[in-house]
Amino acid sequence: DRASAASVPLRAGALADGTAVPLLANVGTHADAEAAVTLGAEGVGLLRTELLFFDWVVAPTVEEQRAQYTEVFRRFPDQPVVVRVFDVGADKPLRFVPTGPPEPNPALGNRGLRALRRNEWLLRDQLEALALAQAETGADLRVMAPMVNDADDAAYFVDLAHEMGVQGVGMTVEVPSLALLADQVLEFSDFASIGTNDLTQYTMAADRMLGTFPQYQDPWHPAVLRLVKMICDAGAAAGKPVGICGEAAADARLAVVLVGLGATTLSMTPVALADVRAELALHTLAEARMLAARALQGRTAADSRARASVALH
Ligand code: PEP
Ligand code: MG
Repeated sequence: DRASAASVPLRAGALADGTAVPLLANVGTHADAEAAVTLGAEGVGLLRTELLFFDWVVAPTVEEQRAQYTEVFRRFPDQPVVVRVFDVGADKPLRFVPTGPPEPNPALGNRGLRALRRNEWLLRDQLEALALAQAETGADLRVMAPMVNDADDAAYFVDLAHEMGVQGVGMTVEVPSLALLADQVLEFSDFASIGTNDLTQYTMAADRMLGTFPQYQDPWHPAVLRLVKMICDAGAAAGKPVGICGEAAADARLAVVLVGLGATTLSMTPVALADVRAELALHTLAEARMLAARALQGRTAADSRARASVALH
């Protein structure tokens, strides 16, 4: 019956040859977290904490934050939960974070870690709340920062996280400068998670909020794929995991290509988990690498997609 079928655990993400590819969920609300569990996510690959507090006028206290994080962590006992500290500014303003006067190009201005460095009290409170929620639940917590530009930004974040009692510290790689410097940053951070939405926007200089140039605002673009490969290669050389947390991981065929490029985990909107799980199971790692090699040779996003979509056999 339906009730017992729903309680059978869903298969873990894996390629046809058995290579494990943990399939994680992007979560911004408690409803998302519940859906992630129901749809068989193997953990959370991106908790967008700014969405938990998007309508707050006054900054949440450490205690108010701890309560929210604890509620999410309790749904994922024994599974990794990757929390991104507030990605404030640009497309996600928070009323309780002063980001200054409106900017002509907000995506290029005071957002993410840049805004947090200017409001360090907020970052300290958040890290403290995360450490408390971790201690309370025993969660397999990892924390990452958004909009990191270089090793100086990354070292600032790692040091502050450690000071506040948080271990397992990584970076969202979504600015091309950080992709180019991934080897430097992975020397001292524990993991990287590629945000393909912003990485595409910034690599292609195509505003993700406008959608007026869909041929550029497309993670299949070979320029984006080459940066993804560069980050994954740096992760492999450093022995550090590199996940994907942008929407690209929800495109089943692109998910296979991303694994072929070296991604070790994929995080996506929960409704995409079933399709991606099914597509991964059709290809071996050797095949995924072949598809990735083809996609890297594309001339445009459409060309890379077409090259990776023809049958291999
Ligand atoms: C991204 O940029 O790909 C990402 C995962 O973060 P967001 O979409 O929240 O900016
Ligand atoms: Mg982003």
